[in-house]
Amino acid sequence: MSFENPKLICTFYTKIGACRHGEKCSRRHIKPTSSDTILMPNLYKNPKFSNNEANGQQVPITGEKELQQHFEDFYKDVFVRAATLGKVDAMVVCENNNNHLNGNVYIKFSSRDIAYDAVVKLNQEWYDGRPVYCELSPVESLSDANCRAYDTNSCSRGDHCNFMHIRRPSPGLKNFLFRAQEKSFLTQRIASIRQNLSAQQTPESSAPPASMIKTTSPEAVQMLFNSSR
Ligand SMILES: [Zn+2]
Ligand SMILES: [Zn+2]
Repeated sequence: MSFENPKLICTFYTKIGACRHGEKCSRRHIKPTSSDTILMPNLYKNPKFSNNEANGQQVPITGEKELQQHFEDFYKDVFVRAATLGKVDAMVVCENNNNHLNGNVYIKFSSRDIAYDAVVKLNQEWYDGRPVYCELSPVESLSDANCRAYDTNSCSRGDHCNFMHIRRPSPGLKNFLFRAQEKSFLTQRIASIRQNLSAQQTPESSAPPASMIKTTSPEAVQMLFNSSR
């Protein structure tokens, strides 16, 4: 017996983090053990696709304004939850109408450790009545995985396209979320400096040193997001 004829590596899985053949792919999907990017497959149930099981008997939403509002509510929910786990550098949501990319949410964190912890935590959570599935993603560049033709409404591959068809929040919402995140980290830093100073002034104080304070409470971050708009 010998290990001959090794499988080639699936470039779609490596580059996009998802492949239409899934586990049955004839090429190898090398799952990362460390990455700063996570994937929550099929998390966004896009109401414009009537075949989404989560829609049940509901009539699909077809008006562009309603679709965008529905999407932005989702984007905000997920961004705010992610930001309570650590600094979010980027977040994209796919709206390809195929099983392996439909509703996929990719989040790039500022570090691999944060991404690792986020996978552990999010896998224990539910969103909108469904369990969340979350994994480390091999995607290194979200912009390389993006279908540029879709951005200009000219993707001729349609539902068969294997690159990300990204639905974007309005620039106003995106700016607001990233600004609120910055503000929450700034508040966190100031609080930790204050705590450090008071610990230095009173050496017997039981306050932990700033280096031990790594995260604010999710509730505190949530309040910031709610109040800064
Ligand atoms: Zn594959
Ligand atoms: Zn495309």
